[in-house]
Amino acid sequence: MADPLQLACPHCNAINRVPVQRLADDPVCGRCRSRLFPSAPFALTVAAFDAHAQRSDLPLLVDFWAPWCGPCRTMAPAYAQAAALLEPQLRLTKVDTEAEPALASRFGIRSIPTLALFLHGRELARQAGAMPLQSIVQWTRQHLPPGAA
Ligand SMILES: [Zn+2]
Repeated sequence: MADPLQLACPHCNAINRVPVQRLADDPVCGRCRSRLFPSAPFALTVAAFDAHAQRSDLPLLVDFWAPWCGPCRTMAPAYAQAAALLEPQLRLTKVDTEAEPALASRFGIRSIPTLALFLHGRELARQAGAMPLQSIVQWTRQHLPPGAA
């Protein structure tokens, strides 16, 4: 049997251990009982980023955006729908570059929206510009590492 995956909670950032075969069973956080897959992109702060991007065993998709950015707002509904299609293979998050400038500068985000895919702290791929739902899903699946959960 495969080792359980480590997965940070979107709500309290506690690291949970979840057996691979339970990922699709809507697991909840052992500390706060929140759903580990909220079926919607959740916001990441600089404090929570490493728990999710580095210490979690699932690929993490990040939408770098800002409230004043028209194309970001246009893409938001498609990105939210993509969560339903892509979970629990990976998780979808959003970083508000205006509220979290440290993350934007750490990753050298020059234009928004920018999607970036991470696993174990490593950036696997990055794409700037708004995309429709199908492109988000296809682009993400293309860049998942082979054998990702
Ligand atoms: Zn929790």
